[in-house]
Amino acid sequence: MSVKTFNRGLFLPHYKESTEDKAIANIALPGEVVIPLQQHIGAPCKAVVSVGDKVKIGQKIGDSEAFVSAAVFASVDGTVTAIEPRSNFTGADVESVVIEVAEKQEEPSWSDRDISNMSGDDIRAAIKEAGIVGMGGAAFPTNVKLSPPKPVDVVIINASECEPFLTCDHRVMVEMAEELVLGAKLIAKAVDAQQLIFGVETNKPDGIEAIKAQIEGEEGIEVAVTDVKYPQGAEKQLIYAATGREVPPGKLPLEVGVVVQNVGTAVAVYEACRFGKPLYERVLTVSGDAAANPGNVKVPIGTTIEHIIEQCGGFKDGKEPGKVVLGGPMTGFAQTRLDVPVVKGTSGILLFSEEMLVMSEHMPCVRCSRCVDHCPMYLYPNSISMNAEKGLYDQAAEWGAMDCFECGICVYVCPSNRPIVQLVRDTKKAQAAK
Ligand code: SF4
Ligand code: SF4
Repeated sequence: MSVKTFNRGLFLPHYKESTEDKAIANIALPGEVVIPLQQHIGAPCKAVVSVGDKVKIGQKIGDSEAFVSAAVFASVDGTVTAIEPRSNFTGADVESVVIEVAEKQEEPSWSDRDISNMSGDDIRAAIKEAGIVGMGGAAFPTNVKLSPPKPVDVVIINASECEPFLTCDHRVMVEMAEELVLGAKLIAKAVDAQQLIFGVETNKPDGIEAIKAQIEGEEGIEVAVTDVKYPQGAEKQLIYAATGREVPPGKLPLEVGVVVQNVGTAVAVYEACRFGKPLYERVLTVSGDAAANPGNVKVPIGTTIEHIIEQCGGFKDGKEPGKVVLGGPMTGFAQTRLDVPVVKGTSGILLFSEEMLVMSEHMPCVRCSRCVDHCPMYLYPNSISMNAEKGLYDQAAEWGAMDCFECGICVYVCPSNRPIVQLVRDTKKAQAAK
């Protein structure tokens, strides 16, 4: 078996042992869900329900006429009790629909459609109607990504899950391989791609086998087995590993005829096309050394992380964690409160003890160039951070801040613990405001 990879990057400890073999579990419903009207890149939705309305699971509660946007849906049966700003995972206040969960939940009924004859337009329409976004974290509306202005010949399903601790995509591969492959084929059909590649790291042998069993004997579909290296799941690095094509700086995968979609997204596409089921729930991983009972759970969008942690047994030994992160440890967002809701792009809730955190002061750059040597985008994180720190955002942008995809490797290797990713985010915000 030839193992593919990309240049640079880091071999990180992967810490997946505690959840990689744990089947996806359901948890008890919370008392209320908080569903932000913006969970995606693009225009925010406007509420299409009012306070006091009774809503059903899968009912559209927010929508937008903008092309780049994604509708949001009730994830439970219940009653709308508020439409107001609530804190989200970035710390920003976002207009949200709050639903009190009904005691009695009815089993939703979905249609059962023939997906074999769906055209590209049918597939995109079903995806848009279901409010699907990239579930690997980027949350870009999927129907927009599948409306390419240039020809696409390769679709890659990103099954790398290269961040330590996260195993939700791995479990989806193992437990829902048929749905995953059918969804991936629909994605390939939507963009008229002739080649479909599943990019999977070698540390998921059962996931590789499950996918291979579904595609056996089929032409134009393959599994690209990749090295366990971070950030193997970043689009440009995965495209290079799987196809040898290099996406130029500042350009999108489309430039080289490729579209990349995540595992969870492919399953959501299948469910939207076959059953007309909207995206109102997702699988995520609860892990970290301060988690009492790490696992993989399927939760309604809008469930607070506090409720999910409780349902997974709470904090280990009842001890408050030193840090709570939403997403992976390298690219996720540290949380200061636990009442924030899970959104479509939330892949994990990680709980870390004080002992696991290596907390040190930010120090000046010592020009060791480790960040430059490891950056998978060949950027100069030292120069970006030094300029951004002084508020020289144009200069930081000239050093390539806008090409940084915030993988966090430079922060990980920096002996001065420089807050480089935060300074990149500050630069992007300043440039966007211009
Ligand atoms: S500069 Fe950006 S892309 Fe390069 S290592 Fe740092 S976070 Fe990753
Ligand atoms: S790794 Fe840190 S200290 Fe070394 S050059 Fe980069 S920013 Fe400076």
